[in-house]
Amino acid sequence: MTVNNTTIDKAKVATEGIMQIPTWWTCPPGYEELQAKAHEIGKNELLPRAAISDQESRYPRESLTKIAEAGFGAATLPAELGGVGRGLTGFAVLAESFAQYCASATMCWVMHTAATQLMYVAGNEEQHKRFIPDVLKGKVGALAFSEPATGSHFWNVVSTAPRSGNGYLLNADKSFVTSAGEADWYIVATTYPESTNDDKLMFLVTDNNQDGITQYPYNAMGLRGNSSGPMKFRDVYVPAENRLGTEGGMNFHNDNTLDPLFLLGTAACWTGIAQGALNAAIDGAKKKVHADTGKSVAGYQVIRHELAKAQITIDSARSMLYRTAEGLDQAIANGTPLEECLFPIWQLKTHAADIVIQVTNQALQVSGGRGYLTGQVEKFLRDGRAGAVMGPTNEILREWIGKSLIDVPWFE
Ligand SMILES: Cc1cc2nc3c(=O)[nH]c(=O)nc-3n(C[C@H](O)[C@H](O)[C@H](O)COP(=O)(O)OP(=O)(O)OC[C@H]3O[C@@H](n4cnc5c(N)ncnc54)[C@H](O)[C@@H]3O)c2cc1C
Repeated sequence: MTVNNTTIDKAKVATEGIMQIPTWWTCPPGYEELQAKAHEIGKNELLPRAAISDQESRYPRESLTKIAEAGFGAATLPAELGGVGRGLTGFAVLAESFAQYCASATMCWVMHTAATQLMYVAGNEEQHKRFIPDVLKGKVGALAFSEPATGSHFWNVVSTAPRSGNGYLLNADKSFVTSAGEADWYIVATTYPESTNDDKLMFLVTDNNQDGITQYPYNAMGLRGNSSGPMKFRDVYVPAENRLGTEGGMNFHNDNTLDPLFLLGTAACWTGIAQGALNAAIDGAKKKVHADTGKSVAGYQVIRHELAKAQITIDSARSMLYRTAEGLDQAIANGTPLEECLFPIWQLKTHAADIVIQVTNQALQVSGGRGYLTGQVEKFLRDGRAGAVMGPTNEILREWIGKSLIDVPWFE
C-alpha cells in the first residue's frame, strides 16, 4: 500500500488483513476527484519531464502548459473566470499532489497561481481582461519581490519607481524570481514616491520582453528547473495602466492575498515532496531483496519503523495543511480578513519546510546507496531543502510565532 497515489486492492485488504488507510486521512472530504485528477496529471505529464528538467536545469514549460490545458491555469480564481472554484483547499490539494512528481514545475505553478490571484484581487477589470484569458491558455506569471539589499525581508523593498509621464520608471534589483526570463509577465514589488515604512509597496506589471529587463542564470542545489535567478530592471517604463491597484495600500494585499496563498502553496509543495520521497523509498525497500538473508529491505523491522516514523511526520504536516486550507476557505466565506489567519499559516509553512528535510533524509537512508545515486530520492532531498530558506524563512517565522505567543507585536 502506498499512501495517496496508489489504488488500494480491496480484495487483498479483506483476505490478507492489510490495513486500508481511510481516504479522508490523505484528502479533505469532497476533493477526492480533484486529487485523483492531479495525480493523473502528475504521473502522465509532470513525472516524465522531471528528471531532464532537473539534470539540464530546463524550465518545465511543457508541464505548465499541460497543467493549464487540464484547467488549472488560474486555479484559485472563481469558476466563472476559468478557475477551479474549489477555493484554497482545492489549490492545496493540487499543489501537494503535483509536487510528488515534479517539484520544479509545481513551485513555478504555485508562484504563478499566487501572481494570478494577486492580479485578480488587486487588479481592475481591464487588467483581468488583458491578462487572464492568456493565463488560462498557459501564459505564466511570476513574482519579483526579494531584493539583494533586504534579502528574505521581501516585503521591505528598496527599489524605486519615480513617476514618469503617464507611468513609472522602474529601477529594481531582484535576487530570486521563480520563472525569471521564462514568465510572460511579472508583478514587481517596488516603492512609490511617498512610500512610508507602514505603507511601502506598489505593484507594477511588466512584460518579459521589455527593454531594460535582464535575467541572470540560476544554478542551485535543487528546484533546478525553476529558473529562480536574479533580475535587473533598469529604467523600465511601466505605464500607469500596468499598476495593480493604487500607489499605496498594497501592503494590505501582501498580507491578505499573497502571503496566505504563497505560504499555503509552498507548504503543500514541501508536504508533497516528502510524500514523493517516502513513496520512492517504500517502493525500493519492497523491491530490493538480499540474496543472503532472503529478506527485502522492507523485511527489516528497523526499516519499517523508519518508514512509519516518516509517514507519521508527513501526516502531521498534511493534517495541518488541510486544516489550514479549510480554515482559510471558511474565513473567506465569513468575510474574515486572511491577515487574521497568519498564525496558523506561519506554523504550517515552518513545519512543512522542516519535515521535508527530515523525511527526505530518512527516505535516502532507507534507500541506501541507491538513494544516494543521482536520481529520484536524492532529488527530493535537494528540492525540499529550499523550503526553510525561502522567505519568510523558518527563522523569521519562528520569531513571529514566538513573539505572538508572548503577546508582543510580531512585526518590526
Ligand atoms: C528556489 C527559490 C525560489 C525563490 N523564488 C522567489 C520568487 O519567485 N520571488 C521572490 O520574490 N523571491 C523568491 N525567492 C527568495 C526567497 O523568498 C528569499 O527571499 C530568499 O531565499 C532569502 O535568501 P537571502 O540569501 O536573501 O537570505 P538572507 O535574508 O540573507 O538570510 C540569511 C539567513 O539569515 C536569516 N535571517 C534573515 N533575516 C532574519 C531575521 N529578521 N531574523 C532572524 N533570522 C533572519 C535567514 O533566515 C537566513 O537563515 C526564492 C528563493 C529560492 C531559494
